Amino acid sequence: MLVGIVGGGACGLSCASVLEKYKIDYLIFERSNKIGSKILASGNGRCNIFNKNLIDSKTFNYDLLLNFLKENECPLVVDDEGRYYPLSNSSKTILDLFLSKIDKNKIILNKPILKIEKINNKYKLADKIVDKLVLASGSVANIIKDKQGVVYGYLKSLNINLTKIKPSLCGFKTKEDTTLLKGLRIKGLVSLYNDNKLIVKEEGEINFKEDGLSGIVIMNMSYYYNKLKELKNPYLMIKIYPNYNLTNFKSLKYAIPTNLYNYINKYKLNIYDLKFHIQSTYDYFNSQVISGGVDLDLIDWDFSLKKDKNIYIGGELLDYDFPCGGYNLSSAFSCGFMIGQNIYEKYQKCN
Ligand SMILES: Cc1cc2nc3c(=O)[nH]c(=O)nc-3n(C[C@H](O)[C@H](O)[C@H](O)COP(=O)(O)OP(=O)(O)OC[C@H]3O[C@@H](n4cnc5c(N)ncnc54)[C@H](O)[C@@H]3O)c2cc1C
Repeated sequence: MLVGIVGGGACGLSCASVLEKYKIDYLIFERSNKIGSKILASGNGRCNIFNKNLIDSKTFNYDLLLNFLKENECPLVVDDEGRYYPLSNSSKTILDLFLSKIDKNKIILNKPILKIEKINNKYKLADKIVDKLVLASGSVANIIKDKQGVVYGYLKSLNINLTKIKPSLCGFKTKEDTTLLKGLRIKGLVSLYNDNKLIVKEEGEINFKEDGLSGIVIMNMSYYYNKLKELKNPYLMIKIYPNYNLTNFKSLKYAIPTNLYNYINKYKLNIYDLKFHIQSTYDYFNSQVISGGVDLDLIDWDFSLKKDKNIYIGGELLDYDFPCGGYNLSSAFSCGFMIGQNIYEKYQKCN
């Protein structure tokens, strides 16, 4: 049996590591000239791989990921916010670990899959015939515009539709002109409002850009923004230095950064009433994940496609996404482990 894996990212690599362990033959088709690019980029090169809130998930078996790391002596450390990173503080260690568990001769680089044909219960892709497919091509997040069509294009040949996709975990373009604030990084309590109702609030560092806002807390806001059914004048309210009372100061000139001081003076704003109206999210290239993907209703609990049990779909290609904090990567890895395990178990039953 030969398994064709489309995409050498978190999901594809973890799946391949299981197949390798059970001596099931596979080929990884990777569109770019390297694998695991997003693993390397994750967590600013540190790989935020897990979160303490994930222990009790029903959909994803995170134990498969945690046990794999433990068995291979790759310890994790947790920060104050429950985010887990490798002790090495380096994404490369994680990628190297996965690479050590798969056969590099089974990776075909620079092989974008554009079409898959089903022929007599087998699948033809890039001139190879495989018995089972694992679709793990991720999403168009952080991918340059010219290459975005490749990621989902081949799904059409398998009659697999996507739900509506949107950039997520990204910044916002604002209606206010933020040029004066460009480059400012500041801690604040950020609240997202829609239809004048508070949707969510969270504290963190905000990075100001010339056309809007970014930073982890803002990226999380984009996650909640994407879940809104109807947009009615959405805006962000920012309270800077939330644990410090600035109201007693006659002048804020030396209490806050100069560019912020100039901004509030120019637009005659109250420092405790800083509102930024959302024009849109940033584009796909500037996002970390995508909201939307292959509809979860098309998928069975083992991540196989209901209408064709020889096709498995996992990772970010599926219509799930989470806030920042290690949720996305750990889910993609866990999907891959689960798919590999399911392929092996079914194979054993048939032989
Ligand atoms: C800058 C950045 C930082 C991030 N940081 C974190 C973090 O710290 N923690 C966290 O939890 N998540 C983080 N994420 C999100 C996380 O990286 C992804 O959710 C995760 O990598 C998804 O795994 P995947 O295997 O589904 O897809 P990917 O890892 O994207 O892998 C898909 C692979 O398929 C290939 N491919 C695409 N189309 C085709 C095709 N047609 N044919 C062949 N190959 C194809 C791609 O080139 C890629 O190698 C970050 C994302 C970005 C962009």
